[in-house]
Amino acid sequence: ESLLPRPTHRRVMTVANQKGGVGKTTSTVNLAAALAIHGLKTLVIDLDPQGNASTALSVEHRSGTPSVYEVLLGEISIAEAAQVSPTSPNLFCVPATIDLAGAEIELVSMVARESRLKEALSSEALDQLQPDYVFIDCPPSLGLLTVNAMVAAQEVLIPIQCEYYALEGLSQLIRNIELVQQHLNPDLSISTILLTMYDGRTKLADQVTSEVRGHFGDVALKTVIPRSVKVSEAPGFGQTVLTYDPGSRGSMSYLDAAKEIAIRGAQKEGA
Ligand code: ADP
Ligand code: MG
Repeated sequence: ESLLPRPTHRRVMTVANQKGGVGKTTSTVNLAAALAIHGLKTLVIDLDPQGNASTALSVEHRSGTPSVYEVLLGEISIAEAAQVSPTSPNLFCVPATIDLAGAEIELVSMVARESRLKEALSSEALDQLQPDYVFIDCPPSLGLLTVNAMVAAQEVLIPIQCEYYALEGLSQLIRNIELVQQHLNPDLSISTILLTMYDGRTKLADQVTSEVRGHFGDVALKTVIPRSVKVSEAPGFGQTVLTYDPGSRGSMSYLDAAKEIAIRGAQKEGA
C-alpha cells in the first residue's frame, strides 16, 4: 500500500515552460518515478518529438513504434501506445517518436485540433490502465502540442531553472495558460512551480528562489531540486535518478517534491 495519499480523482499534470533546458523532462520522469515507487500508478505522456522522456524511461521509441503521434491522429488509444517502463512496474509511458516532429503542423488542419489529447485521455480509454497520475512532458514551445497538453490537464507544473533570466518568458507562458483557461479549459490552473538546478554556492540561485516565491507564493514547492551530476547522468543509463543513485541529493529531492505534490493534492481534495 502506498505511503503517499492516493488521489480520489486522477491528477493530470502538464509540465510546461517554452524555454528549453529548464528541467521539464528531468522533473517529469523523476517525479513520476517517485510516485510510482510509492505504489501510485503513474503514466508519462511524452509530447516532445525529441523523445527525451521516452529515453529516460527506457521505453522503445524508434520511428514506427506506436506512440503519442498515432494517439493524436486518433488511430490508436493511449492504452495501446503505453509501455511499462523497465524502471518501475507502476510507471507507464506513451512514447514520442520522431514522427511527432510534423504533428505541430499537421494538427493545424485537424478537427478539434486543441483537444485531441484530452479526447484520448477520456475515462473509457484509460479504463485498463487506471493511472493515479498522468504527467505530460511538453516540448519547448507554446504551439499546438503544448495547447493539447493544457487542454487535457487540470494542473500545470512549471519548472523554473535557478539561473539568469529565469523569469524571462514566464509572462508569455502565463498569458497562454490564461487563454486556454478562458477559451478551452476553465478547469486549468498553475498548481505547482518547481525550482530546478539550484546551486547553493551562488547568490544568484537564492535571488531567483526568493523572486519566484515572491511572485508565486505557496504555488512554489518548498522542495528545490539541486544541481547534481547524478540527475544528469541517470538517463544515459536508462534509469531515473531514483534507481540510479537512490541516496543522492537529487533522488531525495525528487522524492520530497513528489511527496509535497501528493500531500497538497490530498489537502485540496479535503478542503
Ligand atoms: P527540458 O526538458 O526543459 O528541456 P531537461 O530536463 O532535458 O530540460 O534538462 C536540461 C539538461 O539539464 C539535461 O541535460 C539534464 O540532464 C540537465 N539537468 C536537469 N536537471 C538537472 C539537475 N537537477 N542537475 C543537473 N543537471 C540537470
Ligand atoms: Mg524536455
